[in-house]
This record gives sequence, C-alpha cells and structure tokens, in this order.
Amino acid sequence: MTELKAGTAAEFAAGAEPVAVFSAEDSGPAAAWLAPKARKALAEAAKEEGFTGKAGETVSVRIHDGAAERRYLLAGVGKRRDAGSEAHRKAAAALVKAFKGRFETFWLAAGTQAPAAAEGVLLASYAYTEYKKADSEPKLKTVKFLTKTAAEAKKAAAVLERAASVCEAVCFTRDLVNRCPSDKSPEAVADIAKGLAGGDVKVEVVDRKQAEKMGMNLLVAVGRGATREPRMVHLTYAPKGAKKKVALVGKGVVYDSGGLSLKPPASMETMKNDMAGAAMVLGMFKVLSRLKVKVEVHGYCALAYNMPGPDAYKPGDVVKSMNGKTVEILNTDAEGRLVLADALHWAVQEKPSAMLDFATLTGAQLVALGSGYTAAMTNDRGLLSKYLAAAKRQDENVWELPLPKEYEDMVKGKFGDLLNIGKVRGEAGTIVGGLFLKEFVGDVPWVHLDIAGPAWSDSGLAYSAPGGTGALVRATLDWLGSL
Ligand SMILES: [Zn+2]
Repeated sequence: MTELKAGTAAEFAAGAEPVAVFSAEDSGPAAAWLAPKARKALAEAAKEEGFTGKAGETVSVRIHDGAAERRYLLAGVGKRRDAGSEAHRKAAAALVKAFKGRFETFWLAAGTQAPAAAEGVLLASYAYTEYKKADSEPKLKTVKFLTKTAAEAKKAAAVLERAASVCEAVCFTRDLVNRCPSDKSPEAVADIAKGLAGGDVKVEVVDRKQAEKMGMNLLVAVGRGATREPRMVHLTYAPKGAKKKVALVGKGVVYDSGGLSLKPPASMETMKNDMAGAAMVLGMFKVLSRLKVKVEVHGYCALAYNMPGPDAYKPGDVVKSMNGKTVEILNTDAEGRLVLADALHWAVQEKPSAMLDFATLTGAQLVALGSGYTAAMTNDRGLLSKYLAAAKRQDENVWELPLPKEYEDMVKGKFGDLLNIGKVRGEAGTIVGGLFLKEFVGDVPWVHLDIAGPAWSDSGLAYSAPGGTGALVRATLDWLGSL
C-alpha cells in the first residue's frame, strides 16, 4: 500500500518534488500558498493542455511558481459548490491512477479534504495480485500531505493514520472476497479469523459437530452438500471500560452454486462474493483496537459452501433452526437467510444493544436499487437513522426498504413455521429476505443490510478495482466510532 506522510511547507519548499492540487471548474486550482501571479500561470498552463477541472480529469504541467520550477499535478473536482468529500476521494483516486507509474513521491495539497483524499489514494492504490503478476509495478511509494506548520503536520499525521487503518479494513475485506472459492473453505476463513485474535480480540470457532449440538441446524443443512464442512465464528472485541455492546453478523457463503436449485452458469461467476458480509466483519475486527473503538463488539461469521452433493439439503426439507422455529426449504439457493438465522439467534444471546447484519442476500436487491445502493431494513427507526447518518458522512449509499406487517404472511410455511422464499414468486424478494431474518432477532434493535449489488463491481469503480469493493466498511466503522 502507498505510504501517507504529513510534511510542512518548509520541507516542501526545500525540495523539488511534484505537487498535486485539486482544481474546480469554476474557481481553478486550490493552491492558496501561491502568489496570484503564479496561480494564474498554473491555471493557464493547465488550460493550454485542455484541462477544465471537470471531475475525473487530471493534467501534469511544469511552471515557475515564483520560487522555483516545479511540476504541478492537477485533479478536477467539478463545480466547487458540489465538490464535497466524495469528489475529493475520487479526484485523489484519479491522481493515483494517472501518475502511479510515473512518480515515486508527490505532495498533495488536500487542506480540509485530507481524510477523503487519503482514502482516495489508499483505496485506488489497491490491487489484488494473489494469483497473477501485477501488470506493472506502480512506482508510487509515498504521498506527502502538505501542511503549513509542524503542529499542523502532527494533526494531519493522526488523520492519515486513521485513514490508513480504515482502508486496511476495506482492502482486507476485498482480498477475502477476491480469493478464489476453493482456497477459502469455511475452515480456511475460520483460521484467518483466528489469526485476528490477540490483545482485546478473542475468537471462538464452532465446527459442524458442535454446531449440531448447539442446534444450528440451518447452517449445518446448507453445508451438507459439500465435503468441506461449515463453521460458525464468533469474534469478541472487549476494550476496557466499554459501556455498550453491539453485534455485527456476516453472511459467509464462501461459494454459492445454488445447491440442488443450481444457478445458471453466468450467475455463478461472481459467487465467491457471497461471503462479502463475513469478510467485512473480519476486515473490521482487524482494526477495531487500532481505531480505539470504545464499545464491545461481537462479530459472527456464518461460513458454508452451498453445493449440490449426495447428502445436500433438498427442496421439501423442513429444518429446525437454533431458535426452535422450523423452516420449510423450497429453494436451496435462498441459503443466506438460513445460515444467518442461526448466527442472528446466537448473537441475540449476548443481548447486544444494537445488531447489524451484512449479507449479499438477494438478487432482487440489485433489481430494486442497483449496485450503487445498499438496501436497509430495520425493526428500530432510531438505530437505522444513526446508521444512515454514518453512511452519509462516508458517502456510502444506503436506502431503506420497509418490512410491512401485511407482508409477514409471505414467509409463513405450509409444512414448517417459515418458508425460505416468498409465497408469491417474483414479488418483493429483498423485503421477504428481511422479514425472514426478523423472525430470528427477538427484541434486539437490528438493521439488515442487503449488499448484494454494492459488495461487488465487475468493471471497477472510481476508487475500487474490479472485484470486491469493501462496501459499508467505512460507514460501519464510522457508526462504531459514533457510539
Ligand atoms: Zn444462494
């Protein structure tokens, strides 16, 4: 990962390294330290290269800034009025993409947008190279954030350190999602979770036999088609003096073939992504103590392969969940809610004051909201509004769907208490998933986050390479920090 440093104006003036500057369409380069004459020269040199300051644009020019000759890298942020943190995150990412092969170091004048710019740099410099050689080794080693005084540099260093931790959680999540499915069995992911133990973090792994004894029959049923058995992981982060306790629950279907209700080939191509919720939980646990999160956090990862096999669970099966409700299986491809049901019920035993679950749960989420918006459902208005505020601060899009009482009948079974798909096919699939999960959360304030679309990008995004995106890691860490 690119290293972020904070440096002073004096250090900057002493060297001749390039400096990156954000530039708006209507107000030009944000280089307040330059004399008006030099700023004009910079704007003119950029204009001559066809640079207008539109979002996504970058340009490299050399000017004499009054003191010395220096290279200036400009990144457009669009109209100044609309250029908030997300525009600066994207512009910083554009700088990395444009110049990572050319410079080892550049300065970045980010001012009050330093937190977003730092994230843009780190998230855009991520590459997943576990199975292939990188196309070209990026040269970019260090980005130095320009501040005026030593005292300001010190403050900026703390901001950069926080951004580095948050981005490490995002990138760890991406790595787990991007790993090929045969290399991330439930046992292998549980081992990765064990590797996070130490300090304030404890990790408990439940294997298939124990899961059976504990009554986690839904998790066991989903995992029955595969030879490599399911696991339930419980991570605990308990800092001294914590007054609140929350739970984060992640769907970890390490590969979803659909089971006997087999998916068509095209739909299987990205199904290593079906553990993105669990990957998020692990990513966040990696940095909770470094971020000095003050609340006790319990993490749950329900890990299983969903495969056809001689003993695979079948449409028509009725399975008793850990909380005693029986579930009639009609489609083995609606397995996420099954493994989550047992995880949620187990989490409820801890009596958390708030519980979030993250799940690539329904294709219907993608139909309803697309890949740019997570669907949120809740039994607690207050909790959801706090989470939405955190997501907004991080420019992550979350949109609420209702859990209407009058739809509850959609998940009532004929031969069991509940159905694992909706009674009316093709209707409200995402909401039906939420209503099913609601049956397992008791009275705990809870938000269900269906990340089926946002967790993955085929073509990549402004600051996310193709593959796992690490969506909602930033929002959730922000929410944890606000408690
Ligand atoms: Zn499925």
